Amino acid sequence: MLSKTNISLSIITPCFNEQENVSILANQLRTKALINYPNYEIIFINDGSTDGTLNELKKLNKENKKVKYISLARNFGHQNAIKAGLDHANGDAVIMMDADLQHPPEIIEQLIIEWQKGFDIVYTQRKDGQELGFIKKITAKYFYKFMNYFSDLNIEQNTADFRLLDRKVVNVAKKLKENDLFWRGLVFWFGFKKTKIDYKANQRIHGNTKYPLAKMISFAINGITSFSIKPLRFAIFLGMGISVLAAIYGLYALLLYLLTNEPIQGWTSILLSVLFIGGIQLLILGVIGEYLGKLFMQSKNRPNYIIDESTLSSNEHER
Ligand code: UDP
Ligand code: MG
Repeated sequence: MLSKTNISLSIITPCFNEQENVSILANQLRTKALINYPNYEIIFINDGSTDGTLNELKKLNKENKKVKYISLARNFGHQNAIKAGLDHANGDAVIMMDADLQHPPEIIEQLIIEWQKGFDIVYTQRKDGQELGFIKKITAKYFYKFMNYFSDLNIEQNTADFRLLDRKVVNVAKKLKENDLFWRGLVFWFGFKKTKIDYKANQRIHGNTKYPLAKMISFAINGITSFSIKPLRFAIFLGMGISVLAAIYGLYALLLYLLTNEPIQGWTSILLSVLFIGGIQLLILGVIGEYLGKLFMQSKNRPNYIIDESTLSSNEHER
């Protein structure tokens, strides 16, 4: 086993408008969480912030060269920012965490201890307390239920993007060429030896959440359609189900006509069934369109992110 002073660690943190948070986090990491592990680097990924985040990062880097930053050309999204961090991290273990201090730095030592026991992925699970809003709790619960049903994954509830990855997992992650990254699913898909640590989330100190409900829903759709084609199969079953129902109804109408010699009347039933089938058809078309769109985007082979400037040497940009 490596001694503490020899372990090289990378902390990667995506930031989107986190000007008040980055220096607090960097200080907590430096003075508390990483105090026993001198061989570390903290890489902040500035994901197109429009506030003073980049200036803060530049200041932090001036004070301490172990605090590095990668500034992306625009907002590429949390998941792509994580990819930028993984691509450029040098540590034997890489820990990804949010900038808003909701992921308590105190847990880092436990992540490292589990990693040293031989686990390749140490992920974390949030234990909800009073701090989180009611809406966030409910949406999170159904988010995972829905996700797991439709994707062929078994993602545990409340596992955020706060985890440690061993170098060999990071090397796999670096090779990914897919457009729509969804780390929560990917780390389960990778396999490897995993273990879990529980933590209590802190309240966001500064700034707002970047994941309002609408964004959570598109995150879920993205997650599902990135991992499985179950929704397409669901469309087939739905189509079969409705056809069977229609056939039964047809028989019923025929029988009624033969017995009473009068056709079923009704403008309402015609309109309702037309609208119902119309709705279902649009829904299924949407599902097909979602996959087609993904195929289209992927076929362009564009990079997950573009670096504007960074503290890395220029040849590292190309990685
Ligand atoms: N983030 C980012 N790019 C984005 C949105 C968010 O880099 O487009 C970062 C953000 O700065 C934070 C982390 O991703 O460090 C998680 O975001 P947030 O705290 O808003 O999500 P929540 O904790 O509410 O789920
Ligand atoms: Mg947060």
